[in-house]
Amino acid sequence: MSKYSNNNISTKLIHGGISNDEHTGAVNVPIYQTSTYGQEVPGKHKGWEYSRSGNPTRKALEELIAELENGKFGFAFASGLAAISTVVSLFKPGDEIVISNDVYGGTFRILDKVFSKYDIKYHQVDTSNLKNIEDAINDKVKAIYIETPSNPLLGITDIEGASKIAKAHGLLTIVDNTFYTPYIQRPLELGADIVIHSATKYLGGHSDLIAGLVVVNDEKLAQEIGFLQNAIGAILQPFDSFLLIRGIKTLGVRLDRHVANAEYIVNELSKLEDVKKIYYPGLESHPGYDVNKKQAKNGGAMISFELTDGHDTDTLFRSLNIITLAESLGGVESLIEHPASMTHASIPKEIREAAGLGDGLLRLSVGIEDAKELAEDIIGAIKKSRK
Ligand SMILES: *Cc1c(COP(=O)(O)O)cnc(C)c1O
Repeated sequence: MSKYSNNNISTKLIHGGISNDEHTGAVNVPIYQTSTYGQEVPGKHKGWEYSRSGNPTRKALEELIAELENGKFGFAFASGLAAISTVVSLFKPGDEIVISNDVYGGTFRILDKVFSKYDIKYHQVDTSNLKNIEDAINDKVKAIYIETPSNPLLGITDIEGASKIAKAHGLLTIVDNTFYTPYIQRPLELGADIVIHSATKYLGGHSDLIAGLVVVNDEKLAQEIGFLQNAIGAILQPFDSFLLIRGIKTLGVRLDRHVANAEYIVNELSKLEDVKKIYYPGLESHPGYDVNKKQAKNGGAMISFELTDGHDTDTLFRSLNIITLAESLGGVESLIEHPASMTHASIPKEIREAAGLGDGLLRLSVGIEDAKELAEDIIGAIKKSRK
C-alpha cells in the first residue's frame, strides 16, 4: 500500500500504487521492457526473476488498482477475458457458478464453450432479484458471478445482498465492475470477494489497449490467483501497463464528464416519441434505481434504448456524424452498437430474447465530446431512420 491509500479516490488516481521511480525521481513509472533479470547466484536477485511472474511496471499498476478498489491485492492480465478465465480457473470439475442472465457475451461464451468442457457448469438467473440467486444455489455451486450494471440491459444487482447470500452458503462473490470502475462503485467494500475489470474500457479510457484487472482482499485467494496468473501466463505487458496507469490518472475527470453527458442525453432521448424504452440506472423509473443509488455514486455513462417499430437501424448508423458504430465502450469517443448482431451475437437468440435483449436494442457509450452536439447527432440520426 502506498502512503496515499487513505486518500480520496481523486488523489489516489494520480498518486496511488507506485507512482514514481525511486532510482531517478521520474514522476512517471518507467516502462521496464524486459523479459528477465540478472541474478548474482541462483535465487539471489533484486526481487525480480522473469516478467511473466513479475514486472515492476505491471506491479505499479497492480498496486494502483488494488488501492483504488480499497482491496489488498491486484493482478493485471492481457485482457478482461484473460482475467475472467484465470478467475474461473479457481474452480474444478463438478463446480457450478450462478451468473447474471445478462452478462458480457464473451463471459457467457467462455463458460458455455470452454469451461463446460472441463465440467464447470453455470446457472444463468436474473440476479437483480436476490431470491433467484438463493433458488439457484445447490451443493455444487461455489460462486455467484454478477455484473451490475449488467451488459447491455443495465440491470442492477444488490452487491451487499448477493454477498450476504454467498457468505451464508460459503460461496465466493465475483463482481465484474467494468461499467462503473472504482470511481463509481467499489464492490469489495460491499462484501464481494473478487472484482474483475475489462480495463480496456473506462480505466484505459482511450480505446487504445486491451487489458484486464482483478482485485481481492483475502490473502489465500490472492495466492491462488497469483499462482494461476503465472501458471496460465496471460499477463499484461509492460508498455500496456504503462498506458493503463496513464489512462487511470484522468479517470475521475473523464467519468465526471461522461456521466454528465449521459444524463443530458437520457433526458433528451426521453422526450422523443421514437424511443420506446430507455435503460439507464440513473433514471428514477429504472427498477434498480434505489439499489444503484445505495451502492454507486451515479448511473454511469452507458445507455441502452429501444426504438419503436418503424425504424431502419442501418440508416440510423449511416446518418451519424460524431458517434461511431463500433464494439467496445468507455473510451473518450462516443460509440454506438447493436448488441443482438455485435457484442452479444454469441448468445443464442432464445436466451438473448428471454433475457429481454431484443433485435431493436441499441447501446450507446457516451463519450466526452460536447453534450449538445452528441444529442443532436443521435436524435438527428433517429429521425432520419424513420421508415
Ligand atoms: C469488454 C468486457 C469484457 C471483456 O474484456 P476484454 O478486455 O474485451 O477481454 C468483460 N466484461 C465486460 C462487462 C466487458 O464490457
